[in-house]
Amino acid sequence: MNKTERLGDGRYVTQYVDVCRNCRGVGTVDNLSCYTHSGALLTCPVCDGSGRVFIRKEISVKIEPYKSITT
Ligand SMILES: [Zn+2]
Repeated sequence: MNKTERLGDGRYVTQYVDVCRNCRGVGTVDNLSCYTHSGALLTCPVCDGSGRVFIRKEISVKIEPYKSITT
């Protein structure tokens, strides 16, 4: 599910679904709040409990003639 689109003018956008790094795809995280210490599992705030995240990257490519810098 990787899709790359060319926007023109040397710009590309790629978007894909990846495993959430915050909860490692589980969808919940341990409540490590130093105020409560309850140890309860919380819904991961990054993926909202789905375990997957939608990633969108914009890449810009610039091509110029190479000119060696000599003084
Ligand atoms: Zn998550």
